[in-house]
Amino acid sequence: MAASIATVRTVKDLKAEVAKWREAGETVALVPTMGALHAGHLSLIGIAKNHATRIVASIFVNPAQFGPKEDFKRYPRDEAGDLAKLAQAGVDLVYIPHTAEMYPRGFATKVTLPSLTEDLCGAARPNHFEGVATVVTKLLLQCGPDVAVFGEKDYQQLQVIRRFVRDLDIPVEILGAPTARLEDGLARSSRNAYLSEAERRIAGRMNVILAEACAHLRAGDPAARVEAAAVAALTAAGFTQVDYVEVRGSDDLSRPAKGPKRVFAAAFVGRTRLIDNMAV
Ligand code: AMP
Repeated sequence: MAASIATVRTVKDLKAEVAKWREAGETVALVPTMGALHAGHLSLIGIAKNHATRIVASIFVNPAQFGPKEDFKRYPRDEAGDLAKLAQAGVDLVYIPHTAEMYPRGFATKVTLPSLTEDLCGAARPNHFEGVATVVTKLLLQCGPDVAVFGEKDYQQLQVIRRFVRDLDIPVEILGAPTARLEDGLARSSRNAYLSEAERRIAGRMNVILAEACAHLRAGDPAARVEAAAVAALTAAGFTQVDYVEVRGSDDLSRPAKGPKRVFAAAFVGRTRLIDNMAV
């Protein structure tokens, strides 16, 4: 029989459960997700367990971070499957708020950070990071965890979260988790479920092209030449639209990159937009 797992759907119930743990002197980690869970999400839970005695995972497909032409409606949803995986992974509590719980009538506040969110994915997805920052702020304040874990797969998002947590003095430690990959190196993603067999083969080229870009940068090639070569390689591999390939500073996403560097890419295979990034 599958293990059962405690779930709450309201802020009040979440706070009540966390308060019980706090009274018993326990520490709490939060792992926010949009569900359709895969081994990447579960690796975040593994990291969370090393930093707290109680683990809360949230599942919320946040409408505010999807553009009008994006995939909010068709985003994969599998609550029963997710709960089984979270139980197996040893999560203590799953928070699954309804949209009306997160955005009640009259909801009016937004968390915006112009400096980190206008380029890279922010250029093609204008309100995306505002939606992420607002919902993650709410999740952190609702749960009040000691630590929260986010993936480097969404590296710009991770840096945005680190910044507003610091700027707003939210009392939580943000931990980054390395990108979990499939056998051919494709970054695990809930959106991989959209790919046909042919698209899946093309998708598997992105990480190879990024690794090549990193090798050229280490060999001293100028960033602009490496970026242009990677865009050409993605197009030749069958990506239908390349949103960007950019070399940026790892700490502040600076361009030209200052200090340690990372290469970031976003491109479409058919209708599916894939992102990846790698440390140089
Ligand atoms: P999502 O459900 O896509 O919103 O992702 C929830 C969390 O899991 C975010 O912090 C993501 O960065 C992280 N995540 C998604 N895919 C991966 C992956 N392949 N490796 C590591 N973390 C990931």
